[in-house]
Amino acid sequence: MAKYVCESLRKIDIRFLKREGYLELNVWRSGIIIWSSRGTETGRANVTVDSPNSSLNISYYYSDPWTEPMYVNESITLTSTPCHFGGVRYWIKCGCGRRIGILYAGAAKFACRRCYDLAYYSQQDCTPRMFSALRKAWKDEGWLENEYANMRVKFWKGRPTKRYRNWLARLRCYEALSSDASEQLDTLIRCLDGTKKVK
Ligand SMILES: [Zn+2]
Repeated sequence: MAKYVCESLRKIDIRFLKREGYLELNVWRSGIIIWSSRGTETGRANVTVDSPNSSLNISYYYSDPWTEPMYVNESITLTSTPCHFGGVRYWIKCGCGRRIGILYAGAAKFACRRCYDLAYYSQQDCTPRMFSALRKAWKDEGWLENEYANMRVKFWKGRPTKRYRNWLARLRCYEALSSDASEQLDTLIRCLDGTKKVK
């Protein structure tokens, strides 16, 4: 069975974008990202960064051992935080809300390491089972939003309705999948800085 680690996956790295001049203030820039493994090209994507609107658009063909190649066009949000010594530090915003440095295409969608539950440095392998759990989480996210918007009555005679209790239960499941953001951010920064390898 195929095994996945971060390094074998397609990714968008904020440091790469910075280095290549995609993150200059008020610049609209497009180019190509080429992914490779052991010197062999494994894929490429067209990428456009619209820095005034803090958005990144990426299009590519996604394929894995279980699916046919699929054209993917995805819009990703960029954010920035002020640096101590002036200027800003850029981040990529994952669908889960986290600010991170690298997004991975573990399935036909870019997401953070935490969302994909990926392992660094080949110390832990990822299985297709994780991807199906992730697809479920994204589906649940949509369901939670819709259901909440459509729920007119949440309490009846001071008690949560059955529908609302069901919604809360699903929310807890979903939250269990997407856990503490700041802890993850710290781990990732340490990892990016190369000061500590995460488990
Ligand atoms: Zn995420």
